[in-house]
Amino acid sequence: HADAAMYHAKASGRNNYQFFDQRMNQAAARRFELESSLRGALQRGEFELHFQPIVDTASHRLHALEVLLRWRRDGETLVGPDEFIPILEENGMIVAVGEWVIRTACEQSMAWQAQGLAAVPLAINLSARQFMHDGLVDSIRRIVGETGIDPSLVEFEITETALMQHGGQTLEILRQMNGMGMRLSIDDFGTGYSSLAYLKRFPVRKIKIDRAFVRELEASAEDRAIVAAVMALANSLGLSVVAEGVETEGQAGLLHGHGCQYAQGYLFARPLPAGQAARLLKRDCATDVLPATA
Ligand code: C2E
Ligand code: MG
Ligand code: MG
Ligand code: MG
Repeated sequence: HADAAMYHAKASGRNNYQFFDQRMNQAAARRFELESSLRGALQRGEFELHFQPIVDTASHRLHALEVLLRWRRDGETLVGPDEFIPILEENGMIVAVGEWVIRTACEQSMAWQAQGLAAVPLAINLSARQFMHDGLVDSIRRIVGETGIDPSLVEFEITETALMQHGGQTLEILRQMNGMGMRLSIDDFGTGYSSLAYLKRFPVRKIKIDRAFVRELEASAEDRAIVAAVMALANSLGLSVVAEGVETEGQAGLLHGHGCQYAQGYLFARPLPAGQAARLLKRDCATDVLPATA
């Protein structure tokens, strides 16, 4: 990427190089500006959580909610995590912000339960640096103790690459999480680390098929073959599977046909602010289904 672009710019002459240079400066300036306003965003209370349903592909019933971080910048613009999580990862703020996410998600679940709403598992994303931070397990244990949440209502999602970066300590961390009654899912499955050996070594409960394999499922025999292979692997290892980024009835039908039990995507619901998510929890989850609204 950057190196390739630089090479291309140099190779194709001076004007391009200057243009590239200017773009680099703009990108750097934007990043600097983002980074300075991110400092203090936590203290100013600018982060909020949205919740996206994960549903059963057979019944469309609510299975869990994925917790997705948002940044309410300047009191209005809602910034998505792809824009700011890399910055938080780089400057280390992800540790504090990630802890805030876990705590706030647990508090939200307890508040919903206190209102008599359904207790639904929350799937919380962990980033690589947060996972590698020594204090993670202690901070999770503290949050569980202080909020009183049932740990079996908390699942963590981590990418293959992040899981593999931690080397020897990964297994111990996962064991401690399991010991508390918390489960782990592999996020963006199929896009990261290319060895499958970790599925055997680590206590993983669920894999989430990346939306890269779902997007063209209807048109692409290759993607259908990949999904079929992932399902066979998951079945023989006893893992449950969630398909990400399901946007059409056609995709949902194919996934169900392949035996994929859970799905998440705009077909069922977008990530919702807490108030709207609460409305889904008001229905009787045992009998009611989510409307399929594309
Ligand atoms: P992810 O964990 O793979 O989350 C799924 C992303 O796909 C979300 O993007 C969600 O809004 C989006 N999505 C869901 N359904 C569809 C669909 O049908 N079509 C399309 N095109 N997209 C769909 P979002 O919220 O922008 O989050 C992006 C990534 O940021 C997440 O990917 C996750 O890796 C990261 N992230 C989000 N919240 C947190 C957090 O609290 N902590 C950490 N460390 N990372 C987070
Ligand atoms: Mg996720
Ligand atoms: Mg994902
Ligand atoms: Mg992702």
